[in-house]
Amino acid sequence: MSAGAALLSVAGLVKHFPIRQGLVGTRPLRAVDGVDLELRPAETLAVVGESGCGKSTLARLLVGLIPPTRGEVTFEAKSVTHARGSWRRDMRRDLQIIFQDPYSSLNPRMTVGTIVERPLIIHRMGDRAARKEAVAELFRSVGLPVAFIGRYPHELSGGQRQRVAIARALATRPKLVVADEPTSGLDVSVQAKILNLLKSLQRQHALTYVLISHDMRVVRYMADRVAVMYLGKVVEITTKERIFIDPQHPYTQALLAAVPNTDPSRRAARAPVQGDPPSPLDPPAGCRFHPRCPFSRDICRTDEPQLLPHGEGHLTACHLVDEIRSLPAPGPMAAQP
Ligand code: SF4
Repeated sequence: MSAGAALLSVAGLVKHFPIRQGLVGTRPLRAVDGVDLELRPAETLAVVGESGCGKSTLARLLVGLIPPTRGEVTFEAKSVTHARGSWRRDMRRDLQIIFQDPYSSLNPRMTVGTIVERPLIIHRMGDRAARKEAVAELFRSVGLPVAFIGRYPHELSGGQRQRVAIARALATRPKLVVADEPTSGLDVSVQAKILNLLKSLQRQHALTYVLISHDMRVVRYMADRVAVMYLGKVVEITTKERIFIDPQHPYTQALLAAVPNTDPSRRAARAPVQGDPPSPLDPPAGCRFHPRCPFSRDICRTDEPQLLPHGEGHLTACHLVDEIRSLPAPGPMAAQP
């Protein structure tokens, strides 16, 4: 994709958090450690990986909620990272985020109507009467009764609170919404309704989504493309179809092995990944996945694989992609010493 076609671009993005060690020293926790991405208008890019892989930190970097240690996020060819003045205001209007836990992200002392109206006040969108009508319309569009406008968050169910969070994110008519695990913690039937709502709102408003998820079933339903993250890095990125039919990275294969497979065209699933990921305070040298990878060779312990094309629109960071693809499914992936 040419740079000009991208709605949002990420180049060399790094976020290290200093962690105190002992009495005087600090060490960097490498939450995001060199990510490059591009997003096309009106697509859904899912970012997947285990808990602690850096996907929620990436979500906050994308919308400018936290500054990167290095690298840059660009939205409509302007810097999010160095946004100032009126561009910073415009950017905050156009880039919105839906958090994982709607209860803690909604102010318990405000009515949900006020919560949804606040972005309109902050961005000076409409007079009081216009804002009231806009809030009522937002409630209708996310399937909440307008009569709920005067209620407080604790008076609503988890699914209803997430609908309030979605209405708040959409209030400023954003172009891009980052949804950070928007359905985790909700009942399966409520999850399906929220996902359907997000899809329908995307069609209506030509929204671009970044969907952060650890649930490959949600990804299969929602995504156009998928980026797989492991210990702060993207290890594979391609279309949703290719991820499910031809996963190339051993970590992606292991993630998919945990998902029930009803698609006969999908490659034989390998075993789910075993053990815990290493600490982002001390990531392994070479390929960060090598202590858990059943294909690991000497080169994997010393040389870091780069994210390179292996098929059209399919980038994978693994030294042995072609070799692994020619192998039959191996036994269980055991954590290696
Ligand atoms: Fe496994 Fe080596 Fe590929 Fe890393 S580079 S995923 S250790 S085969």
